Amino acid sequence: MADIDLITANKKFLYILSFSWIIIAIVAIFSWQWGFFAVYENFPWKYSSFRRRLYMELKFPFDPLQRANEVEKIVIKGNSRLYYRFRPAPYYGGIATADAVGCSFLCAYCWNYDRNLKPERFGKFFSPQAVASNLLKIAEEKSFNLFRVTGSEPILGEVSFKHLIEVINTVLKRNARFKFIIETNGLILGYRSDLVKYLKFPNLRVRIATKGVDKNSFELISGSKKDFFLYPIKAVKELQKGHIQAWLAVMEDLFKDCDIESLKDILRKESIKGELELEKLERYPFVLNNMKKREITL
Ligand code: SF4
Repeated sequence: MADIDLITANKKFLYILSFSWIIIAIVAIFSWQWGFFAVYENFPWKYSSFRRRLYMELKFPFDPLQRANEVEKIVIKGNSRLYYRFRPAPYYGGIATADAVGCSFLCAYCWNYDRNLKPERFGKFFSPQAVASNLLKIAEEKSFNLFRVTGSEPILGEVSFKHLIEVINTVLKRNARFKFIIETNGLILGYRSDLVKYLKFPNLRVRIATKGVDKNSFELISGSKKDFFLYPIKAVKELQKGHIQAWLAVMEDLFKDCDIESLKDILRKESIKGELELEKLERYPFVLNNMKKREITL
């Protein structure tokens, strides 16, 4: 009798154990899905990450200034920012590159789409000094003189701007031959022209990628409201007014020649100097898929 009781008790124990594991697995899957474990390196703020994900739900077209503000709160902690990689890259003839996450836009052709859609899930926080030191190490190993931050929007607001300026300052003061290229969508520099005066480094260049040739194409491609179409153009104008070397780039493959010409007309009317850079689309399968979902044809 005692043996039978023991077997029943053991069975019950095994049932409870397996049931508990099922519950733990379900909770873990949902927690991951909702972002509880979003940034593993920053586990203590997992709950606030959950709340942040709730208001990060996107409806197209969105207000990019509001999105910039929300994304900045996720990707910046103190004066540190989320980066997921540091690497030598072949562009511009060889450039030390820091890949960050978080953008005010969500372009259909973004090669970093998923990380910019859910920035809280990727990367580790790095201080400006740590970013600069990683970049300088790559430059030394590869004999590069060029530096950049890419994969994201480096300027989301004042805090990320300050972080970027500290990275630039630390890198450029190391060697007079070093040059830094800011790759930006121009939204915040167009909105906050008062920030332009802090970019007066002799070896700084600013490349601004506009996402459309007019309001409609801008909204379709960037995901943000069409009213913001002129901000990148305004940014180039302000930078050039401040004698900072800046130029505009556009994705050539998405537009007809006449559309590119109409953009050039706008630039002439706005007294923008210099050539319009024509970019080539990187046709990764997920890029083509995202473009199809937005009904953008090539
Ligand atoms: S602006 Fe650049 S980083 Fe941001 S979503 Fe568009 S392509 Fe990606």
